Amino acid sequence: MNIKIIRSVKELVEYRDTLKGKVGLVPTMGALHLGHMSLVDQAVKDNDYVIVSTFVNPTQFGAGEDFDSYPRTEKEDVALLEEHHATAVFIPKASDMYPEGYNSWVEVFDVTQKLEGACRPTHFKGVTTVVNKLFNLTRADNAYFGQKDAQQVAVIKKMVRDLNIHVNIVVMPIVREDSGLARSSRNTYLSADEKKAALILSKTIKLAESEWAKGEKDADVLKAKMIKNLETEPLASVDYVAINHWDDLEEIKTIEAPTLVSMAVRIGATRLIDNTILK
Ligand code: AMP
Repeated sequence: MNIKIIRSVKELVEYRDTLKGKVGLVPTMGALHLGHMSLVDQAVKDNDYVIVSTFVNPTQFGAGEDFDSYPRTEKEDVALLEEHHATAVFIPKASDMYPEGYNSWVEVFDVTQKLEGACRPTHFKGVTTVVNKLFNLTRADNAYFGQKDAQQVAVIKKMVRDLNIHVNIVVMPIVREDSGLARSSRNTYLSADEKKAALILSKTIKLAESEWAKGEKDADVLKAKMIKNLETEPLASVDYVAINHWDDLEEIKTIEAPTLVSMAVRIGATRLIDNTILK
């Protein structure tokens, strides 16, 4: 079966109207890797149709961020999606998603203001707006997101609850390279030396998991151990290490499961994130 390539909002609306059965949505920004494909594979199992969007959404990038240099690999993306049996790929133009005069935004407060939101203040407003548009366009029964972007999951779940959106959110675990490095489209920015240095993120996540398994419950103590470990890597500069309740992202002092341990670290010019949920 050939995958259907949909390049406009109008075409997607028309296509959706023809579908009878369960629809799964996998929102991505393209440059697809095995992390994305784990979402697609699950969606294919759960649904009759799977629509994958590969839209580099300009509204979720801040000034000075990597919108222009973000990898764009349409041909490879489409081939990979076809191989994994997605039914359609949505590749709209920014001018079609945000036409002249566009001025409506979906904004979730509080949970968006910490962690990634503190470093990237306009990011989640772009994410919630585009995901809402994708929910409306696809009328998906199920939508798939990765724990890799844990705060994004918390934000989307909150938006779905608050706005009574009829979609089931499915969260998939972080897919890593054999080395432990969390797969990310941004890993392509890393030089060979930086890629080695980037292993400090997953090693520090492992450290947090083993300290927790040994009985460490004090969030400040755990955070300090993690930062100390990250600082052993000369190419790393820490944006944040944080320990929050998983779901509402309230900051916590004493770790009681389920707890999100997350970090953002710059390796050279590349900003990487990683996390684990202590259960
Ligand atoms: P992106 O294209 O980076 O916006 O990611 C699209 C979706 O794929 C998001 O829900 C991400 O959390 C998810 N994703 C990205 N990398 C991974 C990974 N390594 N493992 C699992 N899911 C991922």
